[in-house]
Amino acid sequence: MSATLVEIVKASNLKLKPEDDKLGFGRYFTDHMLVMDYSIETGWTGPRITPYEPIALDPAAVIFHYGQTAFEGMKAYRTEDNRILLFRPEKNFSRLNASSERLSMPPINEEEVLEYVKQLISVEKDWVPTSKGTSLYIRPFIIATESFLGLAASKQYKLVVILSPVGSYYTNGIQPVNIKVEEHYTRAVRGGTGMAKTAGNYCATFNAQTKAINEGFSQVLWLDAIEKKYVEEVGTSNVFFKINGEVHTPELSGSILPGITRMSVIEMLRSWGIPVSERRISIEEIYQSYEEGLLEEVFSTGTAAVISPIGELEWQGRKIVINNKSIGAVSEKLYDTLTGIQTGKIADTFNWTTEVN
Ligand SMILES: *Cc1c(COP(=O)(O)O)cnc(C)c1O
Repeated sequence: MSATLVEIVKASNLKLKPEDDKLGFGRYFTDHMLVMDYSIETGWTGPRITPYEPIALDPAAVIFHYGQTAFEGMKAYRTEDNRILLFRPEKNFSRLNASSERLSMPPINEEEVLEYVKQLISVEKDWVPTSKGTSLYIRPFIIATESFLGLAASKQYKLVVILSPVGSYYTNGIQPVNIKVEEHYTRAVRGGTGMAKTAGNYCATFNAQTKAINEGFSQVLWLDAIEKKYVEEVGTSNVFFKINGEVHTPELSGSILPGITRMSVIEMLRSWGIPVSERRISIEEIYQSYEEGLLEEVFSTGTAAVISPIGELEWQGRKIVINNKSIGAVSEKLYDTLTGIQTGKIADTFNWTTEVN
């Protein structure tokens, strides 16, 4: 489809770009952003690329009080021959609409907004970093902007897309992490908003995460909210277990965020002839398979780290050590193949990448 070119208002002063090795995550933002507005009367209108700048909102805007909002996270990668690739971006915009539906927010035209985002990236091409492992992180989000304190869905919204050059996740090579199984706090519950990328799901995890970090872990593993038995996610990543030659991951129950890396890992493993099952997995079963010597690999998946191997799980004071705390063969092959496709080093036989011109 050929969406119209958006209006562009160029920034009058361009920022100094940071060095690739100083990027970190989500600290620096490019010179421009994409903005669009919604009202019940007009639908989504006025797509425009403007200088990166603060958003002025009424203090009574619904977003500040009732948290009606959704976001996405994806990356643009620079290839060795200087092309810019997106990884399955259409999946991010359909997930944004799924989040919006859960939060009583209006859908966007997925194809059109993707075209606008490509135009934004095209304007900001020089911001896509070049060093190994770096990328341009893309953060689309929608906020409820109507000024009204009544408890009802807003009649006005703003879609904003900002871009942030981000550093390599693994500066010292891939190190398996240790994870604490969280027994007290809950991330999400079936029937709640766990399947949506919405603000409240994330601030609700900060205390458990801080506590785990203070205890020397890098993240928590979340159990289901109802029985506190079944494995759900690790931090804000999906989780996989390789047990006796088969790969298992929690089924999408409504409280689990349907990751695009998760979906890609499942499709890739199946294409390699490795069986994958999506089902309920109890932490008890994981411990049992460890005791029987059948727990071969554990890893989490997400846009930020792609694949993050887990070296140790702690559950009720019991330690589960995985693959001698080193990355497993399947985890490593998944990492190399996925990042290879994302950066154009490996032929994209799945047709997952889209070029930005
Ligand atoms: C974003 C996110 C993921 C990973 O999704 P990807 O599309 O693979 O980046 C997993 N869990 C949670 C809670 C998330 O917010």
